[in-house]
Formats: sequence, C-alpha cells, structure tokens
Amino acid sequence: MNLHEFQGKQILASYGVRVQRGLVANNAEEAVEKAKQLTEETGTSWFVIKAQIHAGGRGKGGGVKLAKNLDEVKEIAGKIIGMDLITPQTPPEGKKVNRVLVAEDVYYPGESETSEFYMSVLLDRAKGRNMIMYSTEGGMDIEEVAEKTPHLIFKEEIDPSVGLQGFQARRIAFNLGLSGNAFKEMVKFVDALYRAYIGSDSSMFEINPVLKTSDNMILAVDAKVTIDDNALYRQKEYAEFRDFSEERPIEVEANKAGLNYVDLDGTVGCMVNGAGLAMATMDLIKYAGFEPANFLDVGGTADAKRVETAFRIILKDPNVKAILINIFGGIVRCDRVAQGVVDAYSNMGDDINVPIIVRLQGTNAELAKDLIDKSGMPILSAVEFQEAADQVKAALS
Ligand code: GDP
Ligand code: MN
Repeated sequence: MNLHEFQGKQILASYGVRVQRGLVANNAEEAVEKAKQLTEETGTSWFVIKAQIHAGGRGKGGGVKLAKNLDEVKEIAGKIIGMDLITPQTPPEGKKVNRVLVAEDVYYPGESETSEFYMSVLLDRAKGRNMIMYSTEGGMDIEEVAEKTPHLIFKEEIDPSVGLQGFQARRIAFNLGLSGNAFKEMVKFVDALYRAYIGSDSSMFEINPVLKTSDNMILAVDAKVTIDDNALYRQKEYAEFRDFSEERPIEVEANKAGLNYVDLDGTVGCMVNGAGLAMATMDLIKYAGFEPANFLDVGGTADAKRVETAFRIILKDPNVKAILINIFGGIVRCDRVAQGVVDAYSNMGDDINVPIIVRLQGTNAELAKDLIDKSGMPILSAVEFQEAADQVKAALS
C-alpha cells in the first residue's frame, strides 16, 4: 500500500525523524488558513505548496511551488488543486490533485550551504536483508544519477539478527561528507528512519531529498512510503491511510471481493486458480498470439458466486474479446467449478457477449467437460493446455 507524502511524514515524525513540517489543505482558502497556522507553529513566512498524489517527480511536473506570501499561497494552491498533474511517474493523462500540503520553506539562507541527499530503506529480496541506499546527489534527478554515475550511490546492508549498528549510521554520515553538528544529526536521522521503517512494517521508505539546512539540521523534505499489505492486519492505524481514489476502481472492487486481480492491456480475460497457473495461462495466451487483459487468481474456492463476481469484473474491461477460464481441480472438484461456470453464465445471460473457453483439469475433469458440453450454452471446453490455446485462437480469428 502506497502512502501520500504527508502520511509518510506523519509516521516519520512519530519515530522522531525531523521533517519539513506542513498541513494538508483541500482548497485555496483552507491553504491560506493552514499557512497562517504554520507561521504560528514554526515562524516560517515562506511556504512550499506540494501536490499530494501517489507519484514522484511532482516538482518537475509543476506540483511543488514556492509561495512567498499568503496571496501566492492562495493563487498557487488554487492552481494545483484540481489540476491533472503529469509527471514521469504518472499515467500519460496525469493524476487529479485533490489536496496539497502547505509546508514550511526549509531552504532559507544561513551560515552554511544547504545540501540535498538521497536516502532510502528497502528490502533487498535477493539477499533477504534490509538495505539503506544513499547518495550525496539527492534531489530531482536521482534516476539519472543511478543510470549514469552508479558509483555515487552507496549501500549499507543490515544484519537482521542485530539490526542497524551505530558504526553503520556513522559510516553513512561520513560518506555523505558531513562533520560537526550535521554529522551528529545525520546519525540520529538514520537511526530514527530505520526504526520507522521496521516499526511500520514497510517495504520501502524513500526520502529524496534529505536536506542539510543552512543551520546544519537534517530533515526529510519528501517521503515516499510503501507499507507491506500483508502487515496491515497489525498496522490498523496505517491501514486507515489507504486512499482508494489513487487506485484503479476495478482493482479496488476485485480486492473487496477477495479476488487477486491486476488490470492489463490485452484482449483475453483470464480466470484462474493459483498465481502460478495464472502466470502460465498468461504465457499460454501470448503463445496463442494474443495478450492477456488481466491477471486474476480466484483462489482455492472457485464456487459459482466467486466465478460470477470474477466474470463481472473481467467484463467491465471494454477491451476483453474472449475469456479463458483455466482451473486446476486439486482441492476443488472440477465438476463443481463447471457447475459454477454454468450457473454464473445462466444468471448473467445477456451480459456475456464474448466467447468463453473453459479448461478444467484435475479431479473429475471429464465429468466437468461433459457438464459444460451438455449445458447447451455457448461455452467452449478444453482438457489439454494446447487445446485451450487453439480454442482462443479460433474464437478470436
Ligand atoms: P518530488 O518532485 O515529487 O520528488 O517532490 P519533492 O518533495 O522532493 O520536492 C521537489 C523539489 O522541490 C525538491 O527536490 C526541492 O528542490 C524543492 N523543495 C522542496 N521543499 C522546498 C522548500 O522548502 N523550499 C524550496 N526552495 N524548495 C523546496
Ligand atoms: Mn522527492
């Protein structure tokens, strides 16, 4: 589950990570109120208005703007809220901005220069360990740094049995070229950041930029956070952070029905039990010369109700020209699935206007095929993998 910047910062602050402070506003008038409140709390008179969407690169797309007085706050917030913000990380048509973060300006001049660093904590799946990735080259072009000058990106691997060690945090501060108070602040920052990552069951915390202010404080100016969905049952407070307006409606609906569904671009809808078989089925569709319209794992209990829900979800995609059902009857009996398909079909009747190919393999497969063939419905059945591929081809050619 992805979070908004302001939510990520809220988690960070609760673990003692210093952040660029800000308040959320839903419209221009509210932005002005929040700016006044922020001045009372922080003393700031300049503000940064930041679009809150689930995508990075907002600065490049015009979603992060400096406001030097309340009139500018009103004008800029008014422009950003409601806009379709296009960044390198959004879909081509952009993402609608519903609210902004009115934040304190932290790039004020002072005794020393400001510096922007990059830092992220993430799970290295190959090593089975958490890792802190960091660089002196923070800011808006970190992707380019990674591509052209990868030696400027450092990694610190964390041993899960002992956690982040003091010497590791100090090595990070040292490699970032810090000294004096900024060095000490960075050590504290890294330690608190890692505790926030572990404590919230996240799989990624990306802070870009981490800022060294002109008075040598270290703070998180941005926060991109992904919490592991499998941990939401014990992170109830953060589960509330879910913003459904940022997710594809069809995926939200499938998720609510307990179906594992991912929307794709092709024309052949698929309904499969088991993630491995679903992947193989997508290969099968490609092998037949077509592209899958979705990934859909109906899980172990492919009963009539679930089959019907899955049908409805697949058919909401206007690109679907055929549906391939590929079920292995291991725990579930094929004849029961077949009955489910037939029942769902007769319940939905006119709503289904594309050819359906059903392949059932495993317990009672022959019985299942018989059931479908005798149902009198225009459902094509198959037993072998190849047969199913041929049927898809025939149906779409
Ligand atoms: P992103 O573009 O989505 O990654 O959004 P960020 O939160 O990282 O902001 C983009 C850029 O805006 C940062 O890299 C900073 O250079 C700039 N920025 C952010 N906060 C401030 C601020 O308080 N003052 C000034 N002058 N610039 C800021
Ligand atoms: Mn950023």
